[in-house]
Amino acid sequence: QINTQANLIGKHEVLTWYKPREKFSHKGSFGHALLIGGSYGKIGAVNLASHAALSSGAGLVTAYMPKCGYLLLQSALPEVMVLTDEGENCITNIKFDITPTIIGLGMGMGTHETSLKAFESFLNSNKAPLIIDADGINLLSKNNDLLELLPKQTILTPHPKELERLIGGWKDDFDKLKKVSALSKKYDIIIVIKGANTITVYRENYYVNSTGNPGLATAGTGDVLTGVITGLRAQGYDALIAAIFGVYLHGKSADLQVENYAYQSMLARHVIEGLGLAYLDLF
Ligand code: AMP
Ligand code: MG
Repeated sequence: QINTQANLIGKHEVLTWYKPREKFSHKGSFGHALLIGGSYGKIGAVNLASHAALSSGAGLVTAYMPKCGYLLLQSALPEVMVLTDEGENCITNIKFDITPTIIGLGMGMGTHETSLKAFESFLNSNKAPLIIDADGINLLSKNNDLLELLPKQTILTPHPKELERLIGGWKDDFDKLKKVSALSKKYDIIIVIKGANTITVYRENYYVNSTGNPGLATAGTGDVLTGVITGLRAQGYDALIAAIFGVYLHGKSADLQVENYAYQSMLARHVIEGLGLAYLDLF
């Protein structure tokens, strides 16, 4: 399938991976996405990610968060199921009795010491494939040994600051790609370097996204991206394809929403709203 080194990703590439829905499909055909994150004052991050996972096509979505987010999530997103941690304001012990197809973790989670411990014991026992974002990446950066515990093909989605914490600095863009590529190879993980031209890196392969605009430079759009990629993984897209396809759809949605919202007025929720149009634009 994909075997050249640097690839520009546009509609043509994405269409070769797109899976249409079968007439006799049902919600069980599209997986169960679990989004883990949130802390007091940052419940919105799991809200956005869960919503985006559903809107990108996951069959079922469960959000896992500290107790303080329960009412908000249940009233904001009636389609999403909610599980709560024992912690009132932050995640203290990640425990659930469902078997998710895929887990997206880290949005708004905070980097509290108890959350770091909870994350560590979760990684020690987890069997599900993972997408890790935001504070999940910050926790990995605090304790690099945790990288060893990641399942193969785990997807990390750092923004520039999170990437800096993860790999240290870099001299120039070339050096940055080299370091990210080495990390990807060492742990067999996929790293999405977010920014104006998001680049997904897997080993020595680079996939440069062609969609997106400065309207995305606003709070919560990264949480939406994590939700989209988690939703695609739930539906059975392989990790690398889900990462590249997710980045494309997310950017395309923002490009289509420019009809309705100026860059200054675009919000993360509008990017979720536009996902339907982004899918429709494929044809
Ligand atoms: P985060 O910083 O985690 O909220 O993620 C921000 C999201 O918006 C990522 O998907 C970025 O790639 C995207 N983004 C931010 N700024 C721009 C920009 N100027 N052009 C295109 N995409 C952007
Ligand atoms: Mg973010």
